[in-house]
Amino acid sequence: MNDQPRHTAAGPVDSPLVRLDGVTKSYGSGEIEVDALRGIELSVPRGQFVVVLGPSGSGKTTLMNLIGGIEPPTAGSVVVAGHDLTAADDRALTEYRRAQLGFVFQFFNLIPTLTALENVALVAELVGAPEEQARAALDAVGLGERADHFPSALSGGEQQRVAIARALVKNPPLLLADEPTGSLDLDTGRQVLAALHRACRDGERTVLLVTHNSAIAAMADRVLRLGSGRLVGDDLVTDPVPAEAVHW
Ligand code: ADP
Ligand code: MG
Repeated sequence: MNDQPRHTAAGPVDSPLVRLDGVTKSYGSGEIEVDALRGIELSVPRGQFVVVLGPSGSGKTTLMNLIGGIEPPTAGSVVVAGHDLTAADDRALTEYRRAQLGFVFQFFNLIPTLTALENVALVAELVGAPEEQARAALDAVGLGERADHFPSALSGGEQQRVAIARALVKNPPLLLADEPTGSLDLDTGRQVLAALHRACRDGERTVLLVTHNSAIAAMADRVLRLGSGRLVGDDLVTDPVPAEAVHW
């Protein structure tokens, strides 16, 4: 009998993808110390679409940066896909971000002198993925026909979808999106949300979507609420709606 847990390259199959234990993050010291996160306990399984809500300054971006291996916690542990980020050196963190993570930000950060396809292909090349994968990623966000356009010829929502394609071309198990619709209007914002929803549903990909827009919570499998650095709400949603049904 083999009672070892089954493993994939990303870690044991049955363990949560993301796990935070007693996580605290403080900036500065003495009188100017700010406690951005205080005592976070969190476990997120594979395949979940999680919306993280909270007012400005509540610690949402700090939470993303800790899970993304961009900053270390002050105390506690962060384990993602079997990697203990708190024990990892810079090299291991770089490899972790390369293999496990897609990041999407409020501002799209596309390279203006490269076409949509070239922006995505650049990342495909960095991770050794075949170039067809760049085209497939653009198709997956509904932009196959815009592949040869430069960012300046695309709308904000289209640029953000290129950024999502760029994050997905690595096929990461975890996608972190920090205010991805923060600078978009309702219609283009919905297209971006739909692309993120699809990215989660196709394959067992976990999406953590940070927003201060509580209307977006309706499409989540689970809603986390942050307040002053604490997790003040954690609710499962029984019937998430498609992005098209989100209104704000
Ligand atoms: P949110 O994304 O919810 O708006 P943040 O995680 O950016 O919140 O910030 C949480 C708290 O931590 C805020 O009080 C913010 O000012 C502070 N903070 C965030 N990053 C830094 C930093 N690099 N240096 C000092 N304080 C910071
Ligand atoms: Mg923020």
